[in-house]
Amino acid sequence: MKVGILGGGQLARMLALAGYPLGLKFVVLDPDPNAGAGPISEHLLGAYDDPQLLAQLAEKADVVTYEFENVPAQVAQFLASHTTVYPPANALAVAQDRLLEKNFFRELGIGTAPFAPIASLADLQNAIAEIGYPAILKSRRMGYDGKGQVVLKSADDLAAAWRAMQDAPAIVEGFVDFNREVSIIAARRPSGDIAFYPLSENRHRGGILRVASACSADPLQAQAENQVRRLLEALNYVGVIALELFDIDGELLANEFAPRVHNSGHWSIEGSETSQFENHLRAILDEPLGSTRNRGQAAMVNFIGGLPETSQLLNLPNVHLHLYDKAPRKGRKVAHATVRCDQAESFRDTLETLENLAKRTDDS
Ligand code: AMP
Repeated sequence: MKVGILGGGQLARMLALAGYPLGLKFVVLDPDPNAGAGPISEHLLGAYDDPQLLAQLAEKADVVTYEFENVPAQVAQFLASHTTVYPPANALAVAQDRLLEKNFFRELGIGTAPFAPIASLADLQNAIAEIGYPAILKSRRMGYDGKGQVVLKSADDLAAAWRAMQDAPAIVEGFVDFNREVSIIAARRPSGDIAFYPLSENRHRGGILRVASACSADPLQAQAENQVRRLLEALNYVGVIALELFDIDGELLANEFAPRVHNSGHWSIEGSETSQFENHLRAILDEPLGSTRNRGQAAMVNFIGGLPETSQLLNLPNVHLHLYDKAPRKGRKVAHATVRCDQAESFRDTLETLENLAKRTDDS
């Protein structure tokens, strides 16, 4: 079987690495000649919307998936008319637009921060009168890792924040004073079987994920599973999904979902019986899903913009290094390291060391 992936970055690379033991082959479409998945897959080099390359991708692959959600609707439609594409195009359409996404959560009875659509400065002033400060203005489309977002602290911020949107449709959200951020990753097969991962507790800085830790028997696990199940079933979803949530005193509010494998699940490579990457492949190939049980304690640290000496990381006990083969650039995720171990003290010490090393080389 051959799996086609739109995008050839680190997520495609880790999908391919998970697929080789299952005898799978991969073909990726990516405009970057140095794409991280290139050396371990057949690489179609060119634009994501090049009709000839898309036709080749569809023809070569038994099933096509993607590693980012901003796939143009016509590309998803074209692929779906030629081959099987998972996750389904409607999941992409919802995840690409923060307003559709928040409305969808609301329809499903999944709580969110208060929000309102914004198309003008007057809309923003009216909405803020209801929502109050602090709040966040976010572009509806093409936002990730905190991009296209402005925090609003007082009336003085409104005009400049709206100008920064450059007339792009936006939403404003109340700023959530959360206790912690968590995400739940789940995989669903076409038959409807679902596997849920233990919650991940996530720490962000500047809107970018820095550290993700596997939770064990978290009291909010059932609440999160219930929310992601509703989402998966309403979308008739196939593949891995990640739902990002704010925990406010035990109540979970949804922030957003990603219709793909997710950075907050990278610890599953070593920390779970079956990684999110393998389960995504199993799901889209309609094979039985693997166990999502934890294997000891696990946490992942991102390296952004730069990397310490590799030997410094490899010298740490119980650490697993994943280099993405990407040239360092400001704010770019170039690698992650996972610490997995059963011994609480050693786990904590190693995680702290990893975080300090990451901070030293982090340029974002
Ligand atoms: P997003 O691009 O929506 O995932 O936002 C990136 C990060 O910004 C989140 O993980 C939070 O740390 C923070 N953030 C986003 N929206 C809110 C909100 N309404 N209240 C508080 N923090 C937020």
